[in-house]
Amino acid sequence: MTLVRCIPRFPPCAVPAVVLKSLATGSGVGEKAQKNRPRAPVRQAGRQARKRSESELSGNSAKREDLAQVLRAAKRIVAFTGAGISTESGIPDFRSPGGIWTKMKPIQFQDFVNSEEKRRESWIRAFQGRAGWTGREPNAGHYALERLWRAGRLSSIITQNVDNLHQHSGVPAERVIELHGNASYATCLSCGLRHEIEDLRPAFETRGDLPACRDCAGIVKTATISFGQSMPEEPMRRAEEETLSCDLFLVLGSSLTVWPAAGFPLQARRAGARLVIVNRDPTDLDDYADLILRDEIGPALSEAIPANFPG
Ligand SMILES: [Zn+2]
Repeated sequence: MTLVRCIPRFPPCAVPAVVLKSLATGSGVGEKAQKNRPRAPVRQAGRQARKRSESELSGNSAKREDLAQVLRAAKRIVAFTGAGISTESGIPDFRSPGGIWTKMKPIQFQDFVNSEEKRRESWIRAFQGRAGWTGREPNAGHYALERLWRAGRLSSIITQNVDNLHQHSGVPAERVIELHGNASYATCLSCGLRHEIEDLRPAFETRGDLPACRDCAGIVKTATISFGQSMPEEPMRRAEEETLSCDLFLVLGSSLTVWPAAGFPLQARRAGARLVIVNRDPTDLDDYADLILRDEIGPALSEAIPANFPG
C-alpha cells in the first residue's frame, strides 16, 4: 500500500492513497451503499439537535436523548476516539495548555534510531511516565463504550490514543485499533517482539543499559508511533475496513483536524453510515454530522448508554 505522508500539527500520520482518492473523487465503495440506506429519521434528529446546539449551548439533556436514540437504532457501531475521551482520566490533551508537547520536545523517529543519546532521553521519559499516559484509570466514557461492546452493538474502537484505557476498561484488545500505537509496552524495531516496560527498567536504572531485544538484540522502543514514523499499515487497513462496514460512526473527543482522523468519518459518511460527533469544541467535520454534542464525554455516554442498554 502506498502511504502519503502529511504534516499535521500532531501526530505524524499518513493516509493510504486510495482513501485520499476516494474522498477526493467521491467515488468510494460507499457511494453505492448510501443510496440504499433510509436516513430520514436520524437526519431529522440531527437537524433538530443542530438547531438546539445553536440556540442552547448549555443544557445537553435533549441532545443526550438524541444520542441514545441514534445508538439504539444502530446495529454496527464504530467508535473513533481522540485525546478528549482521556482528559477525564487526568491525561491532558496534548495540544492544550499543559499538554505533553508544550512541556517537552518530541523525539523524531529517525533521531531515536540514529542517536544513543536520544534513545536514552526517550527511555528516561518513558520510565518516568512524563507524558502522563501510563498509570491512569479508565473513566465513565471508556466504561460506557465497554457496555456498548457487551451489548453487541460496538464493532470496534479506532483510537488515536496510546494510553491503553479502552483495553483496561474491558474491551478486548483485538477490538481496539490503535492508529498511534500503545505506550504501555515496547517492541523490537527489528523483529517486532513485545517487551514489557517494567522488565526493561532494572537494567536501565542500575547499569544504564539501553533496552535491547532479548531475542535479536535489536533496538527496543515504546510501541507508540513517533513523529516521523510511518503509520502502521495493518491498523490502517483494519480501520478502513471497519469504517466501511459500520452503520454508525461515533467520534468521541477528537478535533478531527489531522489525517487520518479527518478521513475516516468522511469515508464512513460516504459509505452511508450515520455520523455523530461528541466533542467539547467544534470540529472541522461538524457540517457532515447527523448529530453533534458539545458535551463532556463521560457524562454524555453514561446517560446514553445505561447499564440496561438493549443488546
Ligand atoms: Zn528483536
